Amino acid sequence: MIGNLLRTALLHCLVATAAGIGATANAQTLALVGGSVYASPDAAPLAGAVVLTANGAIAALGSRSDVQIPSDARVIDCTGKTVVAGFWNSHVHFTQAVWRNAGSVPAAPLQEHMREMLTRWGFTTVWDIGSDGRDTLALRHRVNSGEVPGPDIYTAGSIFPRDGHPAYLPAEMKLPEASTPEEATQLTRTYIGFGLDGLKLFTGSFKGTGKPVVNMDPAIAKSAVDVAHAAGKPVFAHPQNMAGVDAVIAAGVDVMAHTVAGEPVYSPEQLAQFKQQGIALVPTLSLFAKLPVGPDIAARLVASTVSQLKAFSDNGGPVLFGTDVGFTSYYDTTLEYELMHRALSERQILASLTTNPAQYFKAAKKGRVEKGFDADLVVLEGDPLADVINFAKIAYTIRAGKVIYQRP
Ligand SMILES: [Zn+2]
Repeated sequence: MIGNLLRTALLHCLVATAAGIGATANAQTLALVGGSVYASPDAAPLAGAVVLTANGAIAALGSRSDVQIPSDARVIDCTGKTVVAGFWNSHVHFTQAVWRNAGSVPAAPLQEHMREMLTRWGFTTVWDIGSDGRDTLALRHRVNSGEVPGPDIYTAGSIFPRDGHPAYLPAEMKLPEASTPEEATQLTRTYIGFGLDGLKLFTGSFKGTGKPVVNMDPAIAKSAVDVAHAAGKPVFAHPQNMAGVDAVIAAGVDVMAHTVAGEPVYSPEQLAQFKQQGIALVPTLSLFAKLPVGPDIAARLVASTVSQLKAFSDNGGPVLFGTDVGFTSYYDTTLEYELMHRALSERQILASLTTNPAQYFKAAKKGRVEKGFDADLVVLEGDPLADVINFAKIAYTIRAGKVIYQRP
């Protein structure tokens, strides 16, 4: 009898896998029971709560007596744990060898790497800012079909300045450079036609220690920004130095993908422009802390980036969490939270992971634990408002009502 049941269940699984039933289509009803819930970064915790999901959305949030748990729900005991909205990482790359030919390679290595790089750290939405779009779009298709458990993926195409091949990328890698505004316009149109979600400009490009940074002419950057904005797509930039930051301002770029390590804090004029133009910042502090430059220099680089983050945030600018994973293989997010905490409160860090990116990228149903919102959730082992390192201690990652990571 039990043997028969097992065989039937197994067959069911095989059929479901073969049919490639989608991430949302086979989402179960989940009941997250007994955890402490932060519905949003500014909300008081709701202790001993129930979060109910159905059809990929949050169906109910309340106390145990308020929420009726359906008999077919998968109950996840969250006692002692904290439930928050799913995390965004607004700076990742799918450029490593494992992602190559993502449309045709076996699923197992993709599944494993997706877990190690992203889902075990709570990410339910990511911005891939600079990869081979063919690989990323193919990967996204396999993620959305349910074959590779993973986050919602947005992807941007890159444009480099002339002679702007960065020293840290392999010399043989062919990179799209724009020498004129017309070339930048054309490249941007090509990316949008290909189905990419945004654009990334290297307004400053690192050519090696002791060599001058190559900056993009703001007029070239602006022509790309204008095409992207006309199509409703956001534009990121890698600034590299203060001239690159000024090019961000002059061209109307939306998001600075890094702080500028080793440079002074942003000037009052720059801060005023950030505010006026609604520019956002992805700090990537641990990236600089982990550079192979020796501890003294690394400490100096981190100090400069922390003070930039603090000035930017105190100025009221939207901070978007991001780590540059995929370029860096330092996946553990603990250090990023510790460094951010030197400039931001725990609640501000939670906002950088949830409400800030949802609002900035106009994802109206993401960023909060609220009835009717996407069931993108993270269950943390401890309260992140008591200790920021709890942001990195993930028990479950849930996207669209489906568990995409569960701590072994
Ligand atoms: Zn990057």
